[in-house]
Order: sequence, then structure tokens, then C-alpha cells
Amino acid sequence: MNTDVSTVVIGDRAFQQCLKRYLEPSNTAYCHGVLHTDVLATLRHSTAQVVIVSAELIHQGLGQVLATALPRAIYCLGVEIQANLTASDRPREILTQAALLRQGADAYLRLTAAGASELFLAEQQLLLAQLTAAQRWLKHQDELIQANDFLSSIALADPLTELSNRRALEWELPRQTQRAFAQHQPFSLLILDVDFFKGVNDAYGHVVGDRVLQRLAQRFRSYLRNQDVIFRYGGEEFVVLLKQADANTAQDVAQRLRCLVAEQPFHVENDLTLTITISVGAATLQPDDDPEGKSLLNRADQGLLQAKVWGRNQVVNQNLKPRPNCDR
Ligand code: GH3
Ligand code: MG
Ligand code: MG
Repeated sequence: MNTDVSTVVIGDRAFQQCLKRYLEPSNTAYCHGVLHTDVLATLRHSTAQVVIVSAELIHQGLGQVLATALPRAIYCLGVEIQANLTASDRPREILTQAALLRQGADAYLRLTAAGASELFLAEQQLLLAQLTAAQRWLKHQDELIQANDFLSSIALADPLTELSNRRALEWELPRQTQRAFAQHQPFSLLILDVDFFKGVNDAYGHVVGDRVLQRLAQRFRSYLRNQDVIFRYGGEEFVVLLKQADANTAQDVAQRLRCLVAEQPFHVENDLTLTITISVGAATLQPDDDPEGKSLLNRADQGLLQAKVWGRNQVVNQNLKPRPNCDR
């Protein structure tokens, strides 16, 4: 099948033959469509977003399948071929139309399959106009999806550091916690907090403070693996979700992040270089943790408080034996 088409006609052979007479050959592909799986396979291999489906197949449930089973928007035009309708057939035609729209079609058209007559040419114009309207609808749909993606990315990103924000964490933490439970895989979480950050602001001003946070975020990001997700949790606090990481791995990652900050000063401006440190609380998912990840987050937070109490610039892992001051 030609994959670069804008329209796919789905119906039995007679339906296909009839539509072939109305449509431009170069833009259209044809699919028998007895099995829904065959139709979906055809559409997955094509870029077409407009489908013309025989009324019969829509009655058999294909309209609903098309509306839900594909990852892209599909415009479904239900077509019934019926010549010689009398006035008494009209109520039945209207009811068919209503049923098709209820069953997933976006529009309905009746063709008479008349010979090369004035009626045929008029129906052809109407069919082509329907396809133009479908393209217009799809373009609008596409613009909405793009705008939505854009707004979601703004809503979930922290503008200062460009990391994901707390709202994104609230969405992601339950997902990752539930996935780890379902797949019986270890999962750990770190909370990082800059030590005495208020002092940086007080001594050098908020602009410098902001720049330090940006450099810090860049440094974290450059170290972490692709599957680790880092969030700006609040002011000078960050959360890292570590997929498939047990308590020892989490401890390793936390120590490396701590060293990455403490051992390389931050070049902030031409003649300003600052050394800062972070404290880290780490926790690993336990069988009795809640599926939202709240108790996990809370344990890591307790670890962070402990790290502050024990002198800062250190990691406290709530799932390993506590070792104050000697675990740097
Ligand atoms: P501790 O070691 O106990 O964490 O001390 P701290 O000074 O880091 O903690 P504290 O909670 O007292 O102060 C946090 C500071 O972080 C205060 C606040 O002004 C600063 N801060 C929070 N968000 C931002 C930000 O976006 N930009 C800047 N420049 N500063 C921020
Ligand atoms: Mg702090
Ligand atoms: Mg803080």
C-alpha cells in the first residue's frame, strides 16, 4: 500500500470500486476492512488521517475502534451508497445518519453511485468538500494539541533552572512508585538542599543566588542518568527519583552528587567563585510504603533534617544504618 496518502477508503470491494470513481487515485488507499486488526495495521503504516468507511462497517463497531485505538486523530466519514431513495425512505436515512454519528463517525454522506451524470458530479463535489472540511478540522486539532503540549511543558517546568517543578513531581512520584511495586523493582528518592543558602543571598544578592541555582541544576543534570528524573522541589531544594536503584545505589549517587557540588567551586561571575555544599536525605521504597510515594518522600525528608543536624554537607540514608559524620 502507498503509505503517503491522505485518505483511506475502508469497505468491501463494491464499496471500494464505487469510491474509486469519485476520488483522486493518487491521494487514496483502499482497505478491505473485514477485520478491525487489519484496518488498524493499515492505518498504522500510513500517514492518512481521513478515513471513508462504509456505513455497514461503522454499524459493526469500526467507528468506535478508530476513535480510540490510534495514537493520532482520525476523521471518520461514514458513507452509505444507496440509489433511488424515495420520500418514504427519508426517515430511515436520517436514522442511519444519526446512528453512524453515535457510533463514532464524524460526518455522514449518502452517495447514489449514479453514472456520469450531473448528479454524480455534484456528489463528487460534495465528497471532495467534505474531505477539505476534514483536513481543516485536523489542522485545528493539530494546533490544539501543540498548544496543549506547550502549555503543559510550561506548567511543569521551573523557569529559573529549567528542571521539572514540584507539580511535575506530584504527578510523576505516584506513577514511578506504583510501577516499582508492580514490577518488583527497587526505587529510591533523594532530597537535596543547599546548605546556608540564605547566606549566599545575604552576602551577594538574589541575582547571584539565582545564578548559583542555575549552575547547580546544570551540574546535577550533567551527572544523572537519563532515567533519573530531577525536580526543583522548592527554593533551594531538589528531588531526584532513581529508577531501579536500591539503598546502596542511592547512597552512591547521593554521595557523588554531594562531592560534585562540594569539590568544584561555582564560577558565578567574572571575579566571583563560590564554594557551596548540599545535604542529602535518601530513602528506598519499602513494601509497607504507600502507593503515592508520600511515606518514601517523608523518610527522605527526615534523612535531610538529620543530615542538617549532624553538621550538613553529608548524606543520610534512611534505609542504611545511621552513621553520623563518618559517611561523607
Ligand atoms: P540550611 O542549611 O538550613 O538549609 O540553610 P539555608 O539558609 O539554606 O535555609 P533557609 O531555609 O534558611 O533559606 C533558604 C534560602 O533560599 C532563603 C531564600 O531566600 C533562598 N531562596 C529560595 N528560593 C530562591 C530563589 O529562587 N532564588 C534565590 N536567589 N534564593 C532563593
Ligand atoms: Mg538550605
Ligand atoms: Mg531549604
